[in-house]
Amino acid sequence: MTTTAPTIYETVIGLEVHVQLKTRSKMFCSCRSDYQGAEPNSLVCPVCLGMPGVLPVINKKAVEYAIATGLALNCNIATRTKFDRKNYAYPDLMKGYQISQYDMPIAYAGHLDVETNGEKRTIGITRVHMEEDVAKLTHVRNSTGETFSLVDVNRSGVPLMEIVSEPDIRSPEEARQYLTTLRSILRYIGVSTGNMEEGNFRCDANVSIRPMGDIELATRTEIKNVNSFRSVFSALEYEVERQRRVVEDGGRIVQETRGWQEDRAVTVSQRSKEHAHDYRYFPEPDLPELLPDPMWVEEIRASLPELPAQRRNRFVSQYGLPLYDAGLLSASRSSAEFFEEAVNDKTGASEHRAKRVSNWMLGEVSRLLDHGLVAIDESLLKPAHLGQLSDLVESGDLSNSLAKTVLQKAFETGKAPKLIVKDEGYLQISDSSVVERAVQEALDQNPKAVQDYLGGRETAAKFLVGQVMRITRGKANPAMANKLMQQKLSNLQNTNGSA
Ligand code: ADP
Ligand code: MG
Ligand code: ZN
Repeated sequence: MTTTAPTIYETVIGLEVHVQLKTRSKMFCSCRSDYQGAEPNSLVCPVCLGMPGVLPVINKKAVEYAIATGLALNCNIATRTKFDRKNYAYPDLMKGYQISQYDMPIAYAGHLDVETNGEKRTIGITRVHMEEDVAKLTHVRNSTGETFSLVDVNRSGVPLMEIVSEPDIRSPEEARQYLTTLRSILRYIGVSTGNMEEGNFRCDANVSIRPMGDIELATRTEIKNVNSFRSVFSALEYEVERQRRVVEDGGRIVQETRGWQEDRAVTVSQRSKEHAHDYRYFPEPDLPELLPDPMWVEEIRASLPELPAQRRNRFVSQYGLPLYDAGLLSASRSSAEFFEEAVNDKTGASEHRAKRVSNWMLGEVSRLLDHGLVAIDESLLKPAHLGQLSDLVESGDLSNSLAKTVLQKAFETGKAPKLIVKDEGYLQISDSSVVERAVQEALDQNPKAVQDYLGGRETAAKFLVGQVMRITRGKANPAMANKLMQQKLSNLQNTNGSA
């Protein structure tokens, strides 16, 4: 009997990401582009309605954003670029073609570093190109069972950017890291809100598997309709496993588009290569070639902010933070800026304060922000106030547990911690004579616990310290209360033993 070693497969993933640009107006007309929540078909004009005889005009801000993105992704910026018509007929496409970029994208040949479980890998960026969004179709069924479709043209012509990666990604987890890192960069440079739920950041995932060691790419499938980072991860895991089973059962992977069905957690075939569109691209005759001025490109480069990875590394070297913490703090620009403002407020940056502020931000503040669901600049908490809170605890004026209460109040009201502490009488009692009085009171009120302790139950001491905290309404300095309680108890033990 012979046994063959099982084949080990390598996962190969390339991602195409569509990003909605945060410009005020649309890509080729002056209609407003913030269609979210707008009355259907209220943000339209002859250009984005696709009327005959009208001419598109290129939105300069959209070009600037695409260039900024290209630069942030280490791309070359084209010195000569153009738009192309991508032809197909579908009711959401007003003109019967989409203006896109085919063979001369605005940016190309870049890369993005991602880190998965401490391992850094470089993912190639094939290209960044500009295009326009299509209208939105809603399929409805009326009370008599008739079905029909409604068209909302507001989204038609909204500026999009497509960012295509090389097939360099090697696992679903790495795909998720790539997306998270990419979105963080886009948000930092301010070109997109990157909201996946609102469709501002959409991802198509291409995936294939090949025997480990092979150099040639195997046939891939493309997964569409994935609208959360978690879904991209799950869909890829599912698809890799499906392909492995097909191959191991002696089958062949066919190049096709598959849709991710969230509720069933499976991908299903939607369209095979034979039915792929022939878009008959040709240069857009209504638009001139674009020749981005190198001076302008350099201006855009100079105006880019510090990017997340640079900022993370600076947080490590400048403030002595652990890499992991620095990564969390710098993931969003608002949280990174909040952190630095809090640390540098008044008393100036000391490494010690940075670590304290960081702990507050990653712990209690993050909890109050629903672990990232709310942005920190949407709360009433001010950076200076977090620094102040951390200082109050450090100086011993405020207990750790009351500090949490104070933080919550500052978070909800925007009031300064110092004021809250004063108004609520939260100042920690570090006057030993006052704490000692409370300790004596706790002993007097709880003879049973004292007896238990003297009888050998050491946990009774904890209870008694708890009583001190109760008597002082949580304000006794806990270390001091503990120390004085131990002293009194051991005094009692000695007198008890010698009696
Ligand atoms: P298309 O324009 O038809 O979508 P592209 O060649 O532009 O095809 O590739 C689109 C995406 O698919 C890119 O991100 C690329 O990296 C990825 N890709 C191409 N071939 C493979 C493959 N064999 N396995 C996984 N990903 C692939
Ligand atoms: Mg594709
Ligand atoms: Zn318009």
